[in-house]
Amino acid sequence: MIETDTMQLHKLVEEALPELDTMIGWAAGEDPLHTRPIFIRSAESIPRLIWSPFCAQNLTGYLVKPPALQPADKNKQIGICVKGCDSRSLVALIQEKFVTRDRLRIFGIPCRGTVDWRKVMRQVRLSYVKSARVEDNRLIVDDAGGSHNFDLEDVLTRKCLRCIHPNPVVYDVMVGEPTVSRIKPEDLYRDVDALEKRPLEERLAFWQAELDRCMRCYACRNACPLCVCQERCIAETRDPKWLTQRMGIPEKFLFHFIHAMHLAGRCTECGECERVCPMEIPVTLMKEKLNKIMEEMLGYVAGLDPTAIPPLLTFNPGETGV
Ligand code: SF4
Ligand code: SF4
Ligand code: SF4
Repeated sequence: MIETDTMQLHKLVEEALPELDTMIGWAAGEDPLHTRPIFIRSAESIPRLIWSPFCAQNLTGYLVKPPALQPADKNKQIGICVKGCDSRSLVALIQEKFVTRDRLRIFGIPCRGTVDWRKVMRQVRLSYVKSARVEDNRLIVDDAGGSHNFDLEDVLTRKCLRCIHPNPVVYDVMVGEPTVSRIKPEDLYRDVDALEKRPLEERLAFWQAELDRCMRCYACRNACPLCVCQERCIAETRDPKWLTQRMGIPEKFLFHFIHAMHLAGRCTECGECERVCPMEIPVTLMKEKLNKIMEEMLGYVAGLDPTAIPPLLTFNPGETGV
């Protein structure tokens, strides 16, 4: 089915390419467990496009993060492949007017989950991976040491285990057949709930231990499609000076709390911040907590309605009672 979807993707992109300035998708990476982004401008490159459970990266950041894509022909559309989670980033970017809906040709791909290669490596120390494929609910990887077989659920990215929007929420063309969520909506915040059941001291110890490993490399910030302050980021600006360069827990807490607050009601839980963290810190968890509050208090879920205004992007003086 994955191969069929890739072939369908090639056909759809081939048909659309005359009207596209650039097509952003995924191509083979440094080994079969990885993919990388590809920017297609000519038909010869279309066969390099792939869709597989290894297409983990959310490509929408290329529309807005420096160096943002510079179209050669501004009258043409930008094509982009999105999974369910990625499509919610697009909705948020459209809401905030960072991208214009009619400038996009969205190739939406229903998704059954992407593989977290770090979970694979934790089970088996692979070397010289020759092939990787998903069959039924198994991941099969062939490397220099032989063939290894994994239960897919054990090696999926955490966000995929709690995904309730596996189908794109916005698209022009759909690649493949719609799929179903693997969880019930009421289980969406089970990771947050599990942490909240622990006593306050344990929760504090949990975050102290996690954030103590933070290197302040800002990969989480840089990968986030919605973290868009650029040169005005509080982590780097010196006027006002919010943060020192010290590597203490207070500075790390401050950075992450401000980061999370800036994403409150905007974060679509695409999981990029967590995926790229070299220290494997579950940073999306903080934003999940804020999203849970947003949903409970304001009935708002980010990244679903392109015409909605996120609650913290509006301000009515009357709200304060002033
Ligand atoms: S979160 Fe959902 S749409 Fe996104 S990669 Fe995982 S299963 Fe696919
Ligand atoms: S904070 Fe993380 S999960 Fe939320 S939108 Fe940004 S990268 Fe995605
Ligand atoms: S990517 Fe990880 S290590 Fe780097 S700043 Fe973010 S949380 Fe810290």
